Parts: sequence; structure tokens; C-alpha cells
Amino acid sequence: MDDLFKKLISHAKEYGFIFPSSEIYDGLSAVYDYGQNGVELKNNIRKYWWDSMVLLHENIVGIDSAIFMHPEIWKASGHVGAFNDPLIDNKDSKKRYRADVLIEDYMEKIDTKIRKEVAKAVKRFGDSFDEKQFRETNPRVLANQKKIDDVRTRFVKAAENDDLKEIKQIIIDCDIADPVSGSRNWTDVRQFNLMFETKLGSVSDDAASIYLRPETAQGIFVNFLNVQKSGRMRIPFGIAQVGKAFRNEIVARQFIFRMREFEQMEMQYFVKPGEELEYFKLWKEKRMKWHKSLGIEDHKLRFHDHDKLAHYANAATDIEFEFPFGFKEVEGIHSRTDFDLSQHQKFSGKKLQFYDPESKENYTPFVIETSIGLDRTFLLILSNAYKEEKVTTANGKLEDRVVLKLPPVLAPVKLAVLPLVRKDGLPEKARAIMNSLKIEFNCQYEEKDSIGRRYRRQDAIGTPYCITIDHQTIKDNTITIRYRDSMKQDRISITDIRKIISDKVSFRTALSKLL
Ligand code: ATP
Repeated sequence: MDDLFKKLISHAKEYGFIFPSSEIYDGLSAVYDYGQNGVELKNNIRKYWWDSMVLLHENIVGIDSAIFMHPEIWKASGHVGAFNDPLIDNKDSKKRYRADVLIEDYMEKIDTKIRKEVAKAVKRFGDSFDEKQFRETNPRVLANQKKIDDVRTRFVKAAENDDLKEIKQIIIDCDIADPVSGSRNWTDVRQFNLMFETKLGSVSDDAASIYLRPETAQGIFVNFLNVQKSGRMRIPFGIAQVGKAFRNEIVARQFIFRMREFEQMEMQYFVKPGEELEYFKLWKEKRMKWHKSLGIEDHKLRFHDHDKLAHYANAATDIEFEFPFGFKEVEGIHSRTDFDLSQHQKFSGKKLQFYDPESKENYTPFVIETSIGLDRTFLLILSNAYKEEKVTTANGKLEDRVVLKLPPVLAPVKLAVLPLVRKDGLPEKARAIMNSLKIEFNCQYEEKDSIGRRYRRQDAIGTPYCITIDHQTIKDNTITIRYRDSMKQDRISITDIRKIISDKVSFRTALSKLL
């Protein structure tokens, strides 16, 4: 595991963002709890997504469907039959992997080599560099690109044909080793269904088997007609939902990147058949803009079009972020045709169609889905914000500081209120300021330790503003405001605090960038 990633995980624990679940019982694999700062950050990300969908689009509404659903739903959606991952074990290390992920990581490693080669050439040739020409003519790049293309073609074909023997053969031919032990002693590849099953009802004999939902989307599809009719929605329109999903993941070694219980933020957009690719393009752009609005640099985000389309999809792409362990998916955007509504129509026997008053015809709408993991976005935000810096203190000393440069709108605490000393009426003055502001922002009052140490603690949780109340405050009602990123300090009047902060931390300001 990357060193930086390890530090991030321990920072998240030390500062109350994420704890391993059931830790005093040695934890539960791939299950995590959010602490006092984590829950605030998570709530803010959820709200930012929700408002960007439901508030900013007149034709998108939200729902909150139950986690338990009729078991037939998962047959109709294809999850009972095919929500599988190909699993492979290493006989020496006894570690279990997803075969498709091993192959993807292999291709990614070669692609990293190509990118390094390109970066070197950019340095060498400067402004006159033509990347396209370089990629098309450099022999090393060409050879590596061919390796990727060949493996990809083989893998796509094997996956389409469910050919598990061939998937294993690719792993052998590419000489892929267990990333932990380096061993190449692999078992055969097997399929593994990711759904958790449980029983509904108290009498075991007639209790029905039901599943914990592996995605929130089906709760939207089965409510399509309820929402459309009760909300008098006209196509195109969208339904958004945020909620827990459960998957019995094969490999769960990447902190909150891959969990067994996690939260999804999904939106299904219902459109007229034939118009879906236009909306697919639109949602791709909108979703990328959302990520960038959170201050993520362009080069850390990319689209990754699917090599292998699910049989019901006619376009699909992922938005990937460069995590400390490489580029990985955070969000999927899929053009799902009328597959889901048609399947539920077939399995339930109920008509799930839209009557178009203009053309006076009934049709089953097509669907564009945007599906993003809340926890994975949390990890994206945290990895992007985590910085280790060398800074010069007020008395000229060079010090290390760890700071979370979180977008102010997402920061768990917006303002720290710090009396310089615990006497002379400063705490009372600080409390009065805090009481006037806490109704609007999440404020934290701290009076222990030196101001420098208090600043560091606030930096570590990403608080964008600290104010210090000192003896001068009592005399002239001014305070010192200190900015997290620049560490600059200004003397301002108490009455100006709200004005300075509220705009910077507000959802209104953040959301207006998306209009
Ligand atoms: P992966 O290939 O990483 O398993 P997926 O393609 O199966 O992901 P989707 O079914 O498209 O994922 O789910 C949509 C989003 O839900 C993903 O982009 C991701 O952000 C999130 N997600 C999926 N599985 C998990 C998980 N086990 N833990 C955390 N987030 C997840």
C-alpha cells in the first residue's frame, strides 16, 4: 500500500473521520463507521449532490425507497442470475482476488509506463512536442500500447462469453503475479454472487428469502409510475435517491474504496427512446463539471469508456479519479435503454409506460443513469485535500503541518472560535460570538493549548477559518481571522465575521458554479 494512503487512513482515524467498524472486537472486514467529523463531511457531500440534482433541476425529484424489496425484483433486474464477479485465489498466499481487477491493474501498469514515456518526451521537446505523433511513432509506446490492446480484446471476448478458463489463461499469459506475495500459483476462476441474502418473516418454514439491495437504482425503477403519476412528471424527468447498498465484495482491502456496506447516490433520467445518446452526452458533461466544481484538478479526473458494455446498455462510461493507488472509478454513467422498465413490466405484469400527450402514444422510456458512491467520493475528497507542508511559524521556526484543504462548503467545521487565554473575560466574549454564529455554521470552541497547537488541530480537520479573541477584542470589538490555506491573518471587526465567512462556506455559492 502506498505510504501516503496509509497516512491518510491513520489521519482519518486520529481526527474522527473514519473508524473501523466494531473495532474493540477487532473490526469487521470492509465495514467502517464515520466519526464526528466524518459524518459532517459525508452529510455535506450528500447535500451537495442532492441539491445539484433536485434543487437545480425542476424536472428531477427525489425518493427514499426501502432497502428490502420484493425478491422478484432481483430476478427481473438480472442480479440473481448475473450479479457475479470472477474470483481467483492464490494458492500460496491464500489471498483472494477479482480476476478482472488483476487484468485491469496489469493494463493500467503498462499504461502508466506509456504516460511516463510521454511525460519525459514533453520535458525533452518542450513546446514543439506533438503528443499524437509521438504516440503513433515511438516504438516503445507502440509496443506497450499493442500489449494493452491485445489483452483488452481477449478479455472483453472472454467476459462476453463468460469464458472463465480464458480469463485464467490471460492471467497466466500476462505473467500476472499476486501483488502481495509475488506468487503465480493460481486456482481456477469461479463466479461469485455478491448479494447478501436473508429471511423475511418469523416462521422459518414460510419465511421468504430476500436480499439486501446491491444498488439503489431498482427502488427508483419500481416507483417510476408512482412518481410519474403523483408528481405529474413529463418526459424527460429524473428520480434521485441516496441510500445504503450492500455487496459481499470478494476483495476488500482498499479502505472505504470498496466496502461491503456503502452508500450510493443515484439518479435515473427517463427519456424518449432515440434521444438517449444526446442525454448521455449531457449527463457526462454535467457530472464532470460537478466533480471539477469541488476544486479537483483536471488532470486528476478522466472518463473511462467501458470496453465491455452490459447487454442492455448502449453507452457507458466511468468518471475516474487518481487515488493514491491509481486511477479508479468513482461514478458510472450508463445509457440503460428500456431494459429495467421492460423487465419489471414483464416480471410484474404491470404496464410501466408513459403516455405522451403530444404524440398521443404510449412508450417505455429509455434511461440514463448516473451512479456515484458517497463513500468513494468521500475518499476522493479526503485524498485530494490531504497535504503535508513545511511552514514557517510566527517565531521563524520551520515546522511540518498536515492540513486538509477541503472545499469550505464541505468542511465539517467552518469556524473555530479561540480565546487567546482562559481568563480576563475572553472566554465569555468568545462564547458570545460563537452563540451568534453557531445557528448558521458549524462552529467549534476551543480554549485548551497554545494558539499554534489549536490552529494545527483545526488544519488537520480542514477548518477554513479560525478567529482569535484577545485583549484588544474587549477594547475595540476586533478579532484576528486566520485563513487555513494561506495561514494569513487579518484584524477585522466582529460584525464583519459573518459577511466574510458565510459566502465562502455556503451551498448557494458552491451550487451557483453549476448553473
Ligand atoms: P467496481 O467496478 O469498482 O466494483 P461497479 O462498476 O460495480 O464498481 P457500480 O455498480 O456502477 O459499480 O456502482 C456505482 C458506484 O457505486 C461506483 O462508481 C462506486 O462509486 C460505488 N460503489 C460500488 N461498489 C462499491 C463498494 N463496494 N464500496 C464503495 N462504493 C462502491
